[in-house]
Amino acid sequence: MPRPVAPHRPGQALLPSLALCLLLAGGACGVPAGASAPPHQGAAPAATDATAAVVGAPAAAPAAPQAPVSDVAGEATFEAAAVLEHVRHLAGEIGPRAAGSEGSMTAATYIADQFARWGYAVERQGFSFPQFEDRLSALTVVAPAGEEPLEAGAMLHSASGTVAGPLAFAGFGRPEDMPGRLDGAVALMERGGQVPFRDKVAAAARAGAVGAIIYNSAPPEFSGSLQVPSEIPVLAISGAAGRELRQRLERGAPLQAHLAVDASVADRPAENVIATRPIAAGGAALPTIVLGAHLDSVPISPGANDNASGTALLLELARVLASQPPDANLIFIAFGAEELGLLGSAHYVATLPPPARAGLRAMLNFDMVGVGDELRVGGDDALMRLAEEVAGGRGLHLGRLPGDVTRSSDQASFIAAGILSLFFHVLDDPHYHTARDIPSNLSPERLQEIGEISEAVVRRLAGR
Ligand SMILES: [Zn+2]
Repeated sequence: MPRPVAPHRPGQALLPSLALCLLLAGGACGVPAGASAPPHQGAAPAATDATAAVVGAPAAAPAAPQAPVSDVAGEATFEAAAVLEHVRHLAGEIGPRAAGSEGSMTAATYIADQFARWGYAVERQGFSFPQFEDRLSALTVVAPAGEEPLEAGAMLHSASGTVAGPLAFAGFGRPEDMPGRLDGAVALMERGGQVPFRDKVAAAARAGAVGAIIYNSAPPEFSGSLQVPSEIPVLAISGAAGRELRQRLERGAPLQAHLAVDASVADRPAENVIATRPIAAGGAALPTIVLGAHLDSVPISPGANDNASGTALLLELARVLASQPPDANLIFIAFGAEELGLLGSAHYVATLPPPARAGLRAMLNFDMVGVGDELRVGGDDALMRLAEEVAGGRGLHLGRLPGDVTRSSDQASFIAAGILSLFFHVLDDPHYHTARDIPSNLSPERLQEIGEISEAVVRRLAGR
């Protein structure tokens, strides 16, 4: 079931939630059906259909390795209590960690400090992303009886401008839905029909429309991304309002629409926190394994499960694996800006030199691993079988994730680059992307299971 993005008001920055987000149940994470698009401009990757995201600036020079100074005494074992402590800090004390926000930077510092404590060399890999801001958007419908202002918000990457024209219904925005030429008209279209927003708008503009209004397929308000800048102003309205307008048009009411969009795009900073274990002599011959989890949340949520759970589990794995290092080069990455379309992982993969990329044996990703009933894995078949075998040895059953969910978090950036990946995710979190995604929802038993399974998978991949 697609879930609409929370309504927004003019003047609010739009930071739609787009990653795990993107595809959970066809867009449950806030991506409207038919949208599935990260909100950045230019050659933006669409999270549903173009997972090989390539964004951002050139790679920063790696930080000089630090001498390992671990404060881990003896052999550590994975402890869910330690995971929960990190979760309480990230989601409870720091709170929402939307990309570009102060919270995300504070979280990145916390994560970097933890890695450093356990002797890892830490690099903070910065990149930027374009943030769309809807400064003031408005819609007025003029009917014979008078003017009717309607609640509306700009679609991400809508052109700015003020336009007016007769309102014309254009279905889902498919070519066959266009009621002939729309010269000078404003196209009213319904979300969905397997047509991405940008294609609806492009079809309307080609037919001559001067503006477009997209209404939700369900009654509430929504927002979504056009992925690329549009030629004409585009507003999103609720399904209830849209259906009513459609019915009036079908009854022959002459309606005029006045659209005003005042929006801007500004670059905002984000970062990946990358920890590496200094390579021992002969280390170049060892397999390299990347373990990752995104550190950002959606703006309205403390993100305890999404994804302080994965970040905290990553930190605990880093502690345990520092204490008893496997025969592998380990790279731990807390990714930034996942919720905006897997931007951090895309940046990391895009800036990996080809030899380093070719040397990666596997990528393990953790996103939303603390709440829900069913632990599942997705990704490479052999890696899933290995995880199932490890879990089976502990009397646990692992389900498998559908492909679209597997394309909906940071592992997708690695899979798109041909890197074998394994995704750990628990279905289903009722507090997903809400203010109620808080630390007390998390299951220590679940975190313990996933921690032990993933640690064992890493050790098996390392050959011991
Ligand atoms: Zn997530």
